[in-house]
Amino acid sequence: MSQKEISQFRIALIPGHSSRKRGASNLKNGMTEFEFGMIFVKKLSHLFKVNKAIKTKVFLRDEKLTTVQGLQFMAADVNKWQAGLCVEFHANAPGRKNLYQKVTGNEMLFWNKSDGGNIAARILSEHVTLALGNKRRSLKPITKPPSRFDTRGWPLLYYTRMPCVLVESFFITNDKDLSNALQKIDELAVKVYEALCKISEEFVG
Ligand SMILES: [Zn+2]
Repeated sequence: MSQKEISQFRIALIPGHSSRKRGASNLKNGMTEFEFGMIFVKKLSHLFKVNKAIKTKVFLRDEKLTTVQGLQFMAADVNKWQAGLCVEFHANAPGRKNLYQKVTGNEMLFWNKSDGGNIAARILSEHVTLALGNKRRSLKPITKPPSRFDTRGWPLLYYTRMPCVLVESFFITNDKDLSNALQKIDELAVKVYEALCKISEEFVG
């Protein structure tokens, strides 16, 4: 590895879900979390091309594995690559259909014992709100099952060794939330880029 490569802060970028298990979707236009995530991660990666201090790499889930195994294997790859930060991009959905058009805003999920994850989640939430103008719902500390607390997306948060955040920028089930996000997707990419630069500065010190 060259000196330049060693000094670069590494960020793993992951579109949530996979080409086979695409996550939640919008009932009206059929857009899935995975589709949105792929478009978004491509835009975000493009912004990092001119950034010499940060190196990014996109990781995709092995769609042949179960969800837990897929996330566990991906976490191992991210660990091996020695990422300083890991971010997986989702789009939220409430548990009940009658809430699809009611629930709105952004949520950030991080491992409950990770101070770095908490810091990164806060910075990402601030920047997503700046881009989309939506409500900051909360930063969610995630636990491992069996637990009576929130366990969403736990394997990636649990098995990664660096701070990791699951970004739920908006609710894909909510028509207004989705059209707002699609309209402002470039602004969202810029603000998330700024958030990731700020987080890397905090972690590098
Ligand atoms: Zn998801």
